[in-house]
Amino acid sequence: MTTQTYRAFQVSQPGKLELVQRTITAPPPGKVRIRVEACGVCHSDSVTVQNLFPGITYPRVPGHEVVGRVDAVGDGVLAWKPGQRVGVGWHGGHCGYCDSCRRGDFFACEIAHEITGISFDGGYADYMIAPAIALALVPEDLSAVEAAPLMCAGITTFNALRNSGARPGGLGHLGTQYAAKMGFKTVAIARGADKEPLAKQLGAWRYIDSQSQDPAAELAKLGGAKVILATVTNGDAMSAVQGGLGVKGTLMVLGAPQSLTVSPLVLISGSRSIKGWYSGTAMDSQETLGFSVLSGVRSMNEVFPLERAPEAYERMMSGKARFRVVLTTG
Ligand SMILES: [Zn+2]
Ligand SMILES: [Zn+2]
Repeated sequence: MTTQTYRAFQVSQPGKLELVQRTITAPPPGKVRIRVEACGVCHSDSVTVQNLFPGITYPRVPGHEVVGRVDAVGDGVLAWKPGQRVGVGWHGGHCGYCDSCRRGDFFACEIAHEITGISFDGGYADYMIAPAIALALVPEDLSAVEAAPLMCAGITTFNALRNSGARPGGLGHLGTQYAAKMGFKTVAIARGADKEPLAKQLGAWRYIDSQSQDPAAELAKLGGAKVILATVTNGDAMSAVQGGLGVKGTLMVLGAPQSLTVSPLVLISGSRSIKGWYSGTAMDSQETLGFSVLSGVRSMNEVFPLERAPEAYERMMSGKARFRVVLTTG
């Protein structure tokens, strides 16, 4: 018997990604082992790298936009078998029997709410072990690199939009595509005039350059937004758009800045609301992938091989990455 090892980038102590060789182990009951093909690098990975979440134990491998193939299944796993293409997103599992779970609010599980790359090791590696409950089936029409960013950036914007209560009436590059393909009159807001042609190409009806225009005033001129997907991680930028909400409009908060300033008058005068949105469960991921195949929504990516994970992470954190950064195991 030879012991097989695989590469993983782990955070041994907060602040540093370190390449280690780990031993491949059999998946325990209820879990599957995945041969990772690609893993998106998300801003929320900084939660693991910088220890920004209570209770993280180290070492920990980050990465919650994972796509690969089931390689082995543990006892009691009924729905999955080796060879299937699967994805694992932020929502890493729930108990199924607490009051929240019994209401169908799995994201609010009070007993065993697990987050991939935070509660257990994620996808900055050749292999990972995931709870079967966290798996989404990945259609063959999408490559691993195409599918990976949909496991967090994709599902979060798609799921927020379809649960916004808005009917077809501003957003990241995936949000722009989803909104346009779902039939919303879509306004893209970004910094700089250079992003306008791409926003239009992705289906935006109008483009607002937040460096030269006031997004709230421009949205108000267009009649006010029914829903604004706030994906930025800058609190001032997020606060500045609330005046662009139309009557009964909703600011869906997806990015997580330190704080957000809200004007009660804006909320009261137009019966407007501000609502947070959690990404979604494995089934939401699967529906995101299916919609993406049918409608042609694709993530635009900057691809790095796994061995350059620290550089890829720095690129994402620098804010200079134009699109999604994705690791491939090759
Ligand atoms: Zn993410
Ligand atoms: Zn629960």
